[in-house]
Amino acid sequence: MPATIIDGRLEADRLRARVAADAARLTDTLGRPPALAVVRVGEDPASAIYVRTKIRQCGEAGIRSVEIVLPATTTEHELLATVARLNADDTIDGILVQLPLPAHVPVDRVLEAIDPHKDVDGFHPLNVGRLASGRPGLVPCTPLGCLRLAQTVAPSLAGMTCVVVGRSTIVGRPAAALFTLADCTTTIAHSKTRDLPGVCREADVLVVAIGRPEFVRGNWVKPGAIVLDVGINRVPGEDGKSKIVGDVAYAEVAAVAGAITPVPGGAGPMTVAVLLENTLRCARLRLGGEAALPALA
Ligand code: NDP
Repeated sequence: MPATIIDGRLEADRLRARVAADAARLTDTLGRPPALAVVRVGEDPASAIYVRTKIRQCGEAGIRSVEIVLPATTTEHELLATVARLNADDTIDGILVQLPLPAHVPVDRVLEAIDPHKDVDGFHPLNVGRLASGRPGLVPCTPLGCLRLAQTVAPSLAGMTCVVVGRSTIVGRPAAALFTLADCTTTIAHSKTRDLPGVCREADVLVVAIGRPEFVRGNWVKPGAIVLDVGINRVPGEDGKSKIVGDVAYAEVAAVAGAITPVPGGAGPMTVAVLLENTLRCARLRLGGEAALPALA
């Protein structure tokens, strides 16, 4: 039987519709729309495109957004001063510092300076710790989007074996924590893992986030598995133009899997929709503390 294609664009549309309804309710409670500040440093073209998409989608969902563009020569001190100003601004609920930052700016120090209640990306150590200990908080957008996509084909993931390939702080580690919270038995694999194909074949849910084009092959996948492909890799296409492929050899894996996310059109669109959802979580956190947050998994 052919794999179910998990339509990330459709699920992102649905999530955005829920966010827009919640944003309207929060606007009544707050007396102003929920608001996201996006800080971009330098002229990385991909970052500029990502930020444009985020800002447009905020507007469509009734979330106010503020974009702050700083020159590539911005010092650590200047960026920290911008973050401090946004932390102190009561009309801002979420703060996102678009990565990558120029090499001379220490990313960790900047992310740690963001008020944990405004940490819309969930990268602050306090939110990392909350996720690791299973407490409500703010969770990175891409892994939370993956969990939501998996739940569209398997509403309960309890007891399933989940293998996450990749252990970055942005995707792999938080994905493993989230799928564990959803009661999966979870393994994290990485570049030093022995017999990676064999480890992957154990997975009922396989999350791949490594940044290697079409790396995971059809014979690495358990028949019927749910495969979530996070990779975004630009490769030469047959027509001489470049194209985007995932970390999974899509055609081969789709022939074996039970369900699979395409690239593009899978984890990518969900990531931005979850960012909007997280902005509302920030607003609720600031209104009512942890108790005001809906459960994650
Ligand atoms: P990182 O480069 O930070 O991490 C890559 C991880 O993959 C590392 O843990 C690394 O292992 C592991 N890895 C690399 N090569 C192999 C290999 N041959 N076998 C097993 N593991 C390997 O990447 P990110 O997590 O930031 O991103 C991963 C991919 O996801 C990229 O393509 C990125 O563009 C995409 N992405 C997509 C997003 C979306 O919105 N859809 C959002 C964020 C990222 P080790 O730790 O041992 O070095």
